[in-house]
Amino acid sequence: MNQPDTRQIVRVAVPSPLPRLFDYTVAGEQPATTLPGRRVCVNFGRRPCVGVIVDVVEQSELDSDKLKNVEALLDAAPLLDVELLALLQWAQRYYHANPGEVLLGALPPHLRDGAELVDSSIAGWQLTTLGNGLTAASLKRAAKQQAAVAALSAGPLTHSALLELAGASAIKALRDKQLIGAVSLAPTPTDDDQPLLAEPALTLNSDQQRALDAVALNRYSCSLLHGVTGSGKTEVYLQLIERVLAGGQQVLLLIPEISLTAQTEQRFRSRFNVDIVTLNSSVAAVEKCRRWQRAASGAARIVLGTRSAVFAPLPELGLIVVDEEHDSSFKQHEGFRYHARDVAAVRAHRLAIPLLLGSATPALESLHNANSGRYRYLALPERAGAALPPQWQWVDLRGAALNAGIASDTEQAIEQALRAGQQVLVFLNRRGFAPALLCHSCGWNAQCPHCDSRLTVHLRQRALVCHHCDLRRPLARRCDSCGSDSLTTVGEGTQQTEEWLAQRFPEVPVMRIDRDSTRRQGAFEKLYAQVDASDAALLIGTQMLAKGHHFPKVTLAVIVDADSGLFAADFRAHERFAQLMLQVAGRSGRGALAGRVVVQSHQPDHPLLEAIAGGDYCAIGNGLLSQRQLGDMPPYRHLAVVRAEAARADQAEALLAELRRSCEPYRSAQLELLGPLPASQEKRADRYRYILQISAVERSALHPLLAHCAALAAQLPVARHCRWTIDVDPLEL
Ligand code: ADP
Ligand code: ZN
Ligand code: ZN
Repeated sequence: MNQPDTRQIVRVAVPSPLPRLFDYTVAGEQPATTLPGRRVCVNFGRRPCVGVIVDVVEQSELDSDKLKNVEALLDAAPLLDVELLALLQWAQRYYHANPGEVLLGALPPHLRDGAELVDSSIAGWQLTTLGNGLTAASLKRAAKQQAAVAALSAGPLTHSALLELAGASAIKALRDKQLIGAVSLAPTPTDDDQPLLAEPALTLNSDQQRALDAVALNRYSCSLLHGVTGSGKTEVYLQLIERVLAGGQQVLLLIPEISLTAQTEQRFRSRFNVDIVTLNSSVAAVEKCRRWQRAASGAARIVLGTRSAVFAPLPELGLIVVDEEHDSSFKQHEGFRYHARDVAAVRAHRLAIPLLLGSATPALESLHNANSGRYRYLALPERAGAALPPQWQWVDLRGAALNAGIASDTEQAIEQALRAGQQVLVFLNRRGFAPALLCHSCGWNAQCPHCDSRLTVHLRQRALVCHHCDLRRPLARRCDSCGSDSLTTVGEGTQQTEEWLAQRFPEVPVMRIDRDSTRRQGAFEKLYAQVDASDAALLIGTQMLAKGHHFPKVTLAVIVDADSGLFAADFRAHERFAQLMLQVAGRSGRGALAGRVVVQSHQPDHPLLEAIAGGDYCAIGNGLLSQRQLGDMPPYRHLAVVRAEAARADQAEALLAELRRSCEPYRSAQLELLGPLPASQEKRADRYRYILQISAVERSALHPLLAHCAALAAQLPVARHCRWTIDVDPLEL
């Protein structure tokens, strides 16, 4: 009875919808500092599940006899080290996210499911005692087996080496005779004598050199490397990374798109003789886990990955690079709504290491930070090679006759380029910009029954598809409303334009580059090789194209519909549009030939189009920033939205109205409330969506109020009918 209690109280993140940690006890004499970051198996709501220990505490809110023991400690040592655990906890609090989702989400799925660490050693073979005692003559009728034994007498061999030497049947025969046994071999450590560089670095031009020298190692700084596409940003990354690797540190490089990883990885592998791993969602579970462990053990010196790699375990991290830092895919759009660039800045700051952000079209936030001196602004104003800036041409759509969305001036420009054996890139704004089904007799058009949106026609699949809830219906032959069979499609989709162009230019290959055609692993590489091998070709694509892919033979870029970008309602619409236009323009004329950009619009005099043609992104950005300042929008205000959705509009609205009421006393010139308002698409997948905007001059005023909203929403009865989330620094409303 009077034995000392050796149980320790641990706070555990579990997969629960409740936004909090749960207390358990761990028996035994584990040093308290070795517990956080280890996985446990716990009984949660009568079911066993995997959790992560976040903290060891003296006291629990629960009586000690109510605390349950963990069922098992799954790891002998922490999987998440002190630095990563602290970063994750910071992010969880900052984004008001669910601790279980954040902490468990940082583990590869394999480990999240409770599996053991993957064995990163390599399978091999060695002689058994029996095998060692063989006389030279004993296997003389089996030459392959004899050769294998002779080789193994000098020491163990990897399975693949032995396979090559003796073949599978000899291995099997030797094993059956118990002459050899399996052994696991440590991966060969990287040879210290090997030079770091596998190929010589390029000689930098003076702008590149200045940028490189501006970044000091081993202390925090954030630098914004602003250089047009092809200005040599990647070369600056490579040489900065070389310095960091030479100092014995690891490097993290974040990129926006999976389809870009292969291209980037290739470039890094040809430069460096070090272990490089890529982390992205298309890797199989066990392999992903193995790579994650290689990052955690320090074996991998460069980690290349998309958004979630910002939480990769990197015990010797010395530099973070974020390429295409303006890209919106760095922000997670559901659940734990973090922004990888912003988390990278916090991580670099905590570790006192440099962060380098690169872009041809920096985010307004980053430009603002550079203007105010928080970031160092480094410019690469010229393209590295001899390439010239592109020429712009506006095609006025007013009253123009169109073929599948293409005006005749545009058609001529395309023809000219193709005839000269060059490649043309036709940019269609988005997948949703697709044809609708319309009844010529009564005007009915096909709507999604679950969303505020039109169904789009996919001719190839002969289907109507909702791009918001993925509803699929066979293409109707008769009007739902009047029964007429005179149904027509309106609007130009990627497919229609593609089909028309293919008919118009039958002699050149037409290649489509969008999420659908590049989703499978390796699909993009295949497509890229095809494009590279072709002469004249038409590339048709969506946003995917604007993310930094290199197509050196493209000399003409066509922007089919500039208007949808000019008239979008979102406060970031113009920023996005300008970035997109300049990124697409950057795709043309990267090789020896100068590029042209043809832009179709009903508003060719729009001031934004003029500014874009001027090509001075800083001028455009600063113009847009002053509009943001006038409108009290980010980055001049810190913004958060509480999102609610429910089966009935009044429920979602009522929840946000309650929250607003309780926030009302805090309202001031420094802190504004707006809403509840319907979200830009009010109804999606049969759910009504509302938002409450909270904006503040100081973050310190915003965050306590968000915490207050979260606590209150958890208790309100109407919240039981709603799903709600808090979105800090939202990219869209
Ligand atoms: P970005 O990343 O800005 O698009 P890259 O680093 O990919 O630019 O450079 C574009 C092209 O210019 C590449 O082919 C690269 O090899 C070449 N390049 C970059 N820097 C130099 C340099 N200092 N000297 C010669 N060629 C360079
Ligand atoms: Zn009809
Ligand atoms: Zn729908």
